[in-house]
Amino acid sequence: MKEPKASISYKDLIAPCGMNCGVCIGYLRKRKPCCGCYEHSANKPKHCIHCAIAGCEELKKTDSGFCYDCIDFPCFRIKRLDKRYRSKYHMSMIENLNYIKHQGLDSFIKNEELRWKCQSCGKGICVHHDECLECGAPFDFKYH
Ligand code: SF4
Ligand code: SF4
Ligand SMILES: [Zn+2]
Repeated sequence: MKEPKASISYKDLIAPCGMNCGVCIGYLRKRKPCCGCYEHSANKPKHCIHCAIAGCEELKKTDSGFCYDCIDFPCFRIKRLDKRYRSKYHMSMIENLNYIKHQGLDSFIKNEELRWKCQSCGKGICVHHDECLECGAPFDFKYH
């Protein structure tokens, strides 16, 4: 069984689309966790294995490896994903990518570590749940 992470670190977990895989339930679940966008594992869901964004030919032409560097950004795929996450999960891929573009990845990761930290137990929060997976404390999205 996967142990709860001792401290939050999202290094190498920020996907080309701006998703922080470290806050995804696929990554945080204890049973058969996914290793994130950059790792290939049997536990990665099919839609992420065959992700049209991660496999996009335009992405391969970018220096940064992020969609913000693409001439078509934000393309329909990014807009569709962004809309779903803004309406259902209180986060925006486009905002994330614009932040990384202008402030840098290190600064983004630092902010993410604060943003997704449970105020009760200090563990990482899951974007797909309203409560901390570790201690059950409710997560108030209006402050995030
Ligand atoms: S399921 Fe997809 S979004 Fe979630 S951690 Fe795995 S690769 Fe990332
Ligand atoms: S923004 Fe560009 S690199 Fe990213 S998925 Fe769209 S076309 Fe591909
Ligand atoms: Zn908690």
